Amino acid sequence: LSDARGPDAYPAAGPCGYQKFLGVEYELAESPSPRDVPLIMDARVPQTDGYRFIYVLPITPTRVLIEDTYFSDTTALDFPTLRNGIETYAHDHGYVIANTLREESGVLPLPYGRSDAAGDTPNVTGYAGGWFHPATGYSLPSAIRVAHHIATGARSGPAWDQFVRHHRSQAAFCRLLNRLLFCGYKPEARRNVFERFYQLNEQTIARFYAMEMTWADRLRILFGGPPRGFSLARYVRNARKSTR
Ligand SMILES: Cc1cc2nc3c(=O)[nH]c(=O)nc-3n(C[C@H](O)[C@H](O)[C@H](O)COP(=O)(O)OP(=O)(O)OC[C@H]3O[C@@H](n4cnc5c(N)ncnc54)[C@H](O)[C@@H]3O)c2cc1C
Repeated sequence: LSDARGPDAYPAAGPCGYQKFLGVEYELAESPSPRDVPLIMDARVPQTDGYRFIYVLPITPTRVLIEDTYFSDTTALDFPTLRNGIETYAHDHGYVIANTLREESGVLPLPYGRSDAAGDTPNVTGYAGGWFHPATGYSLPSAIRVAHHIATGARSGPAWDQFVRHHRSQAAFCRLLNRLLFCGYKPEARRNVFERFYQLNEQTIARFYAMEMTWADRLRILFGGPPRGFSLARYVRNARKSTR
């Protein structure tokens, strides 16, 4: 029996940033050019409320999901303003909306405290059990690993302990990245961090998303001094405030 009640049941103790988003699926009057979609991460948009990007994913030739995402200090989502922003984006990119089909939204914690709940209670799995990527808010890779582990091994004993240690080591590094991002940068400067990150080699980026980073990957991510906009004074002030 597994308790996997999802992100709402995650005990988000400690300081947190948030990945929050609104996505709207549209039926378009005509197909967008294959040159324009999919568009994975368009961060040329105004950097309001933290690192912000929009993606456009084609679902069918005339159906697209346009999602507006923020790496923000707060959980607030102003739906009417976000909807307007997405429609303006669609219009500016030449998409003619015929119909609005559905919406999806979420506010996912990106914790940067030092403790990690993953594995504290073996029977709590999924997001609620801390089995997610602290720097992206995604949980699919962890969910697959936990399911595989449970299906093939035990929920206690040396193999489980080793599995929890591995996750926690990866998660601790991700929390450090969150701490640098949320404490050391003004919201509008956070884009610089991602601009540099996505210039790393693809294998490092893939291992980052999968939470399978090597020590060399960790060095590559931190190597070369902080991206533009980092303030040590701001980092120390905010990091101290967040531990009080
Ligand atoms: C819109 C959206 C898109 C996302 N996209 C991605 C993505 O592309 N990739 C990715 O890796 N992550 C994504 N995430 C983040 C995360 O992976 C998902 O939230 C994922 O579904 C979490 O899985 P989970 O099993 O922990 O919880 P959930 O999928 O939320 O499942 C929890 C289940 O528990 C049930 N439940 C809750 N309380 C009770 C109760 N008291 N009794 C009985 N049942 C209960 C709920 O009804 C639900 O079925 C997304 C999140 C959102 C909100």
